[in-house]
Amino acid sequence: MQNCNQCGKCCIKYGNGGLSAAPEEIDWWQNHRPEIAKYVNKGKIWMDPISEEQLTVCPFLTVESQQKNMTTVTEPPKIKYSCSIYYDRPDDCKYYPVKIDEMIRDGCEMIEVRDLTDTRSAQVTLDRIMSDSRPASNDTT
Ligand code: SF4
Ligand code: SF4
Repeated sequence: MQNCNQCGKCCIKYGNGGLSAAPEEIDWWQNHRPEIAKYVNKGKIWMDPISEEQLTVCPFLTVESQQKNMTTVTEPPKIKYSCSIYYDRPDDCKYYPVKIDEMIRDGCEMIEVRDLTDTRSAQVTLDRIMSDSRPASNDTT
């Protein structure tokens, strides 16, 4: 298990309707971060403030850097993403990733080959890495 390399796959996958926020989070944004709250509509995130439609990309996902792939010229540049509301992002985002199987399914780049053969240890390591962001997962399968 390695640290998050900001590949952005999770934000890209879930930022278009796969995230939710608790009423308390929405209230907090409304009171303290109206620029975030404007992307909430009827309790759903992230919504276009003008059309009121679901956005296809999270409005807070930003490209931090692009690095040319040095091994082959045919590969696209490696993009490193960041979150422009990092400290005030939804709990859904703070908690990800929770389970090894979801990481495998999502192609999360924290996963290393050895994690695939010992998912129990991988879960313990993941919970340690994530201990500042969320409670430990109860399921160690
Ligand atoms: S709010 Fe931040 S962490 Fe959440 S999907 Fe958007 S860019 Fe990613
Ligand atoms: S998919 Fe995994 S490695 Fe990529 S940004 Fe999300 S948590 Fe980090």
